[in-house]
Amino acid sequence: MSRFWNPMVAGLSPYVPGEQPAEQDLVKLNTNEMPFGPSPKAIAAIHAAADEGLRLYSDPESNGLKAAYARALDLRPEQVFPGNGSDEVLAHTFRALFQHGAPILYPDITYSFYPVYSAFYGLEAETVALNEAFEVDLADYRRPNGGIIFPNPNAPTGIALPLADIEALLKDNTDSVVVVDEAYVDFGAESAVRLIDDYPNLLVIQTLSKSRALAGLRVGAAFGDAELIEGLQRVKNSFNSYPLDRLAQAGATAALDDGEWFEARRAEIIANREALSAGLEGLGFEVLPSKGNFVFARHPQGDALELQRGLRARGIVVRHFDKPRTRDFLRITVGTAEQCEKVVEVLGGLLAA
Ligand SMILES: *Cc1c(COP(=O)(O)O)cnc(C)c1O
Repeated sequence: MSRFWNPMVAGLSPYVPGEQPAEQDLVKLNTNEMPFGPSPKAIAAIHAAADEGLRLYSDPESNGLKAAYARALDLRPEQVFPGNGSDEVLAHTFRALFQHGAPILYPDITYSFYPVYSAFYGLEAETVALNEAFEVDLADYRRPNGGIIFPNPNAPTGIALPLADIEALLKDNTDSVVVVDEAYVDFGAESAVRLIDDYPNLLVIQTLSKSRALAGLRVGAAFGDAELIEGLQRVKNSFNSYPLDRLAQAGATAALDDGEWFEARRAEIIANREALSAGLEGLGFEVLPSKGNFVFARHPQGDALELQRGLRARGIVVRHFDKPRTRDFLRITVGTAEQCEKVVEVLGGLLAA
């Protein structure tokens, strides 16, 4: 607390990211990164871009990258808004497209940046409880609102909604924007991107941090009707004209164009997820049906916080959310096949002890 702070600063409750430990030889399964590096074509493009061109500003509109997204997702470039990680895209979305006067709606168990942005921009927010099976029930979102946002699949539960349900919600909610945060969609859920031409109130957000193994490059994007995108552009250009540097634009473009790497790697993660889930179930865990690159699991006997500490002592980092409805669960990122076997083996030992 400093007397030089703007009074608003003392009232902020900033987001707390998962630990990025300095130790090298840990099995890091706590922040849903990929366990292997990105497309070699992305690395080559970043190397090639790290030349004398760096003395020049980057393209403020990331036009090459917009075109790559348009190719990859069968959109028009004016339906694409890239940003410095999808977190930044989310921030601009809350600012540009959510309204005052009625509450923003999102699930009670969800990505913990949503309440942070709501408070930051002075938006009234209401959480909508997941049902007993930890599913989003879209019927509960049919009421006056200043905007709706949920991840699909949801985080940290991993549970996905069918596209038909999202389409029904869009039809019933034509006066405010529905944002579908598809950070994990590439691991098995249905994307809402193909609804964009039909619903001017739909904004879809994706990231290269998870399924493209580029969390450190900081690239995400929103997709929607050209007028929604123009609103985001206006906010972005009132904040930072060059959010994506030259290396990020080059690497992200090459990553999006490498469909072969993408298909092989996401299939590998899906296979490892199924093996990890089966292994945990073999130990007596209840594992929520995940379509993400992580699983959310609880054990009828094991105390989640103690299990997390026991894993950490043995070099394995997983995430625990100490909130009433989630404190019995561990969120475990899907790693390599060996990492998944290791975490099951060590958990088995901890539960036996
Ligand atoms: C990881 C994650 C993000 C943020 O991704 P970045 O692009 O790395 O900022 C957004 N939403 C959800 C639900 C996530 O899990």
